[in-house]
Amino acid sequence: MILFVNCQNCKHTIKTAFHAPGRKSLLSGGKETEITCPNCGDHRSYSINNIYAEESPVVFLTTFLITMVIAITLYSLALKYDLHGLYAVGAAGVIPVLIFSIVNAVQKRKLSKFNDVEV
Ligand SMILES: [Zn+2]
Repeated sequence: MILFVNCQNCKHTIKTAFHAPGRKSLLSGGKETEITCPNCGDHRSYSINNIYAEESPVVFLTTFLITMVIAITLYSLALKYDLHGLYAVGAAGVIPVLIFSIVNAVQKRKLSKFNDVEV
């Protein structure tokens, strides 16, 4: 989860250095935080409520690569133990897709938990 705020001067999307599971976790520094726009240099206070979360592409790619490795491993094991046809496709296809879907659902829940709650 990466946290962003839009510059009020030039509308540039600013990637913040914050790491927080929820908006309330950002409150330790107060309801506002000072941010400098790397695009126009504008420095001002932003409400914590203006910060929004988006999914990290690293998490998505890591999940995708891990599920691909699991799919290839399961398919190899299915062939090794002479499980052809539906069993091989089932093992190599359904389980990784299930894992990928669960991880994505958890990520989306984290995002909506952050973005839907204001402080
Ligand atoms: Zn700006």
